[in-house]
Amino acid sequence: MNLAEFIEGQREQHLAELCELLRIPSVSAKSEHKPDIERGARWVADHFRAAGFKHVEIVPTNLHPLVYAESLEAPGKPTILFYGHYDVQPPEPLDLWTSPPFEPTVRNGNLFGRGTADDKGQVHIHLKAFESLQKVDGKLPINVKILIEGEEEVGSVSLWDYVQNNKEKLKADALVVSDTSMLGKGVPSITYGLRGLNYYQIELTGPERDLHSGVYGGAVPNPLTILTELFARAFMTRLPKFRMPSAKPSTRSPGRKRISKRPSARPATSAKPASQPSNVCGYARRSN
Ligand SMILES: [Zn+2]
Repeated sequence: MNLAEFIEGQREQHLAELCELLRIPSVSAKSEHKPDIERGARWVADHFRAAGFKHVEIVPTNLHPLVYAESLEAPGKPTILFYGHYDVQPPEPLDLWTSPPFEPTVRNGNLFGRGTADDKGQVHIHLKAFESLQKVDGKLPINVKILIEGEEEVGSVSLWDYVQNNKEKLKADALVVSDTSMLGKGVPSITYGLRGLNYYQIELTGPERDLHSGVYGGAVPNPLTILTELFARAFMTRLPKFRMPSAKPSTRSPGRKRISKRPSARPATSAKPASQPSNVCGYARRSN
């Protein structure tokens, strides 16, 4: 029997098992679901063990457990690390559900239930793919490491610590993140170029009272001006073509014609309106 025939023959069994996982309300954001989260971790660990993974562990953390599994029995072949999560978002508001969130239901050929597409379904696909390969071929064609967490929906804090402390253990030739979507039904899709999030907090302090520009102008920069300059610089670095019009003095010398048209008695500094700063990013000199 080839792989495709085997998987087709297991369809109902696979669906029943996925529904079993979907019935576990492993809501990571709510403490009352802690026992469900732990049940979810056990379910994942037990099923990877049953799928032929000899090394499977449930890793306790400060919040919700991780499941790690590995099958390293393909010497000389690449090692791929698969990531997924077994926790789900809270299902509220419940009145928007056509069928109860933790009672998986098939409608019009689609399976509905919390976590079906994020991310229990994807985790289950990997699980059953590995299990089917083991059963049909007797082994996996590559080395596989699995990391399934229970905190994806609440910030993955424990995952961060675990990865930092287990770099060698998690070392792989490639990482597959199966927490993504498909372009459409029947269109398997590879999402690449995923980006993370960076958070910054900028605190700028300035004078505790208003300072008159005629006395302090130039010597004491305005915090708002500095903040604006910081943002402008950030974007100018990313988008080199973007320039604030007066941010950079022109290096081009004025042509002879323009000079000759200026009234000769007028001082060069009076060419700008009196209230105009002499250099936007320099916050150096104001004429008032
Ligand atoms: Zn997800």
